Amino acid sequence: MEKIYFDHAATTPVRAEVLEAMLPYFTEQYGNPSSIYEIARSAKKALETARDKSAAALGADPAEIFFTGGGTESDNWAIRGIAELYENKGSHIISSRIEHHAVLHTCESLKKRGFEVTYLPVDEDGIIRISDLEKAIRPDTILITIMTANNEIGSIQPIEAIGALARAKGIAFHTDAVQAVGHVPINVKSHNIDMLSLSAHKLYGPKGVGALYVKKGIPLRSFIFGGGQERGRRAGTENIPGIVALGRAIELAVSEMEEDSRRLTALRNKLIDGILASVPHTRLNGSKDKRLPNNVNVSFEFIEGESLLLLLDMKGIFASSGSACTSGSLDPSHVLLAIGLSHEKAHGSLRITLGRSSTEEQAEYFLKELPPIVSRLRDMSPLYEEYLKTSRQRISK
Ligand SMILES: *Cc1c(COP(=O)(O)O)cnc(C)c1O
Repeated sequence: MEKIYFDHAATTPVRAEVLEAMLPYFTEQYGNPSSIYEIARSAKKALETARDKSAAALGADPAEIFFTGGGTESDNWAIRGIAELYENKGSHIISSRIEHHAVLHTCESLKKRGFEVTYLPVDEDGIIRISDLEKAIRPDTILITIMTANNEIGSIQPIEAIGALARAKGIAFHTDAVQAVGHVPINVKSHNIDMLSLSAHKLYGPKGVGALYVKKGIPLRSFIFGGGQERGRRAGTENIPGIVALGRAIELAVSEMEEDSRRLTALRNKLIDGILASVPHTRLNGSKDKRLPNNVNVSFEFIEGESLLLLLDMKGIFASSGSACTSGSLDPSHVLLAIGLSHEKAHGSLRITLGRSSTEEQAEYFLKELPPIVSRLRDMSPLYEEYLKTSRQRISK
């Protein structure tokens, strides 16, 4: 049976060109870039080439790119770094209700240290309102941290407007762009972004490596203490193979973005239309058009997303019911609750995230397999039975 990987928002495979680029840095070119002999110099050169490529992808200066151990570390560093840097200026942070846990839990940790956090609500499409942001800004606001694109429902925020407002008010603006970089166009200069987090494994690079863009002039302090790597801002011997891979992956992603985006948007819409047409009592979660090209998120009434995932798995289809980080917990997704879903509907959600391996044939196979699986689950569902009973009573009245 063919395996259909529909979970690219959880992680992506390392693509061949990226693996090829990183391999020599495990074996022949294993030097520590802080040393001075030949194999160290070539490692140092590879590090700086990767920095140039990462900067070019964002419209940043290479001196503004700092490599980290992934998206989570970048988010922690940006938020805690600003809190520490500006704690004498103020103690108020603005974020949103639909952030990744790497941002939410970091903000929560700061609350315990006396910071106040306003989590902006989102509309039914999963997008913040600029007027809400304007109202939330206070004289003691030191940071706005709002994600570029959501990992669960794919909604894309008005980053440019947020950045412009933050700049006008003199407030630092960080965005978690882990789901957006390499998928939708981003330019840190025209979008007025002060700090941006990204991660290699969401764009066909390896896990455990990412970057934080920090605008020149923001003296964000080191978050990890030790040696003087990354110009004294991020200690620890550099993960050269990973960083080389990130540079290659981001370069490829950006150069292929337009074409990939066109192809995936068509495939995404085919899936959304097909699901809504073939399964009754189903809704699309998130915006129709302000949405990542690869994201489908739907809720099926009367069923449990987890059971749906198991039956899809038996058909060789790998998808997600919310975010991989929260599975294993029975709490419904905070993102789906934030866009107004009931607990019941949030539990019946399915996320499909497409990628380079996704094809028309896979979409067709999925659309053929899905309706009987949903029917089977509904036939076993006491909620559905209840619904049928009350609707029959309504008709007979
Ligand atoms: C995956 C993800 C992260 C975490 O990145 P890691 O590299 O896995 O630590 C953070 N934010 C968003 C939006 C993500 O999708």
